[in-house]
Amino acid sequence: QEEIVIIGAGQAGAQMAQSLRQGGFEGPLRLIGDEPHPPYQRPPLSKKFLAGDIGAEGLWLRPPAFFSTNNIDLIPNTRVVAIDRAAKRLNLENGSTLSYGKLVLATGTYARRLPLAGADKQGVVTLRSIADVDAIRESLKACNRLAIIGAGYIGLEVAAVARALGKEVSVIEAQDRVMKRVVSETVSSFFATLHLSHGIDLRLNTGIECLQGESAVSGVKLTTGEVIPAELVLIAVGAEPNDQLAAEAGLDVDNGVLVDGCGQTSDPDIYAVGDCTRFYSNRYKRSVRMESVQNAIDQAKIAAQSLLGEDVDYDPLPWFWSDQYDIKLQIAGLSEGYDTTVVTGSPESHKFYVAYLKENQLIAVDSINAARSHMMARRVIGETWRDGLLPEA
Ligand code: FAD
Repeated sequence: QEEIVIIGAGQAGAQMAQSLRQGGFEGPLRLIGDEPHPPYQRPPLSKKFLAGDIGAEGLWLRPPAFFSTNNIDLIPNTRVVAIDRAAKRLNLENGSTLSYGKLVLATGTYARRLPLAGADKQGVVTLRSIADVDAIRESLKACNRLAIIGAGYIGLEVAAVARALGKEVSVIEAQDRVMKRVVSETVSSFFATLHLSHGIDLRLNTGIECLQGESAVSGVKLTTGEVIPAELVLIAVGAEPNDQLAAEAGLDVDNGVLVDGCGQTSDPDIYAVGDCTRFYSNRYKRSVRMESVQNAIDQAKIAAQSLLGEDVDYDPLPWFWSDQYDIKLQIAGLSEGYDTTVVTGSPESHKFYVAYLKENQLIAVDSINAARSHMMARRVIGETWRDGLLPEA
């Protein structure tokens, strides 16, 4: 069997390697990653790992021996800088080359930066990797005031952890509510109240003029002229796909490497999986790019089956979660386009769920400390794609 090379040793890359072996692939299999670690989970980075509740070994997706046991050649600290499709060869940053029979791109995303004056100052950080969190944890030890730009999942999760560590935390958001892109007003308002009750200085509808300081950042200047003092500033305004390699190699790319329902790119010898991909969802009748563990795992499983010759089609029901303080938010489905919401349970009791309906069909459910509703919602939406009866929160 010809050699399969996977670029990106993250959630999707590791799953791909495992699924290929489990599916019976016996040929040479290489998993190349530019980080020094074995494949690891990112969700705890902004949760338990940042809090110091677990160490790096608690993040590993597979025991380190898994790769050698399964004859997967895991190559860390190695960045692929170009794909020569005609020669079916990769150029590595260290100057060497590597040939492939089939190639899988599992390169994930990078944290979006902001074109803000002062964003290059020391103490201005983003969070995507173990290395980022190691640096943030070190800075947090020495600082008292943290400003977070962006009230999405990662910003709010970090706010909760930093608050528990006793830091003064400001969260600055340009939109009029938190997590606006993904949840309804009810859920946004619940989380805003939660963060305020924990003493977060939450600023909504707030624009930023620049980041102030000498070589190191000392504060965030708002468009109102007010300065929020901070020795550490986390920019948490979303992520962009690592699709440059693919674009430079002439593959079809549109804010994500374009793949079909098998994970195949516009080159039949190259597949792509996980956060770096964009695909057409029959379920949602539009192209989507997901950033979730669910997608990384499920898409990699499907693409591995396709590489092994099976006839497959990927059309998942997306699901996601976020932990903030003692609250677990679990999301089933994409709520975009909903016309009605139904709240069951009570936000005051910190246990409720919001069902999103579109033309009387249940399309998504956000569950707050209501794991049973979440599991039920995944089944109901996934299987029937109609509004179903959900249990009490
Ligand atoms: P990644 O896991 O990012 O792996 C990509 C790997 O490819 C990286 O190691 C990268 O360095 C490497 N790479 C990139 N380019 C190259 C190259 N040219 N050469 C070699 N290597 C390369 N999802 C959830 O479902 N729930 C959550 O609660 C949640 N929380 C999160 C919290 C944080 C802080 C972050 C950052 C993400 C979170 N996610 C969460 C998202 C989830 O982690 C991602 O969806 C998932 O990791 C995607 O897997 P992936 O393999 O596509 O990408």
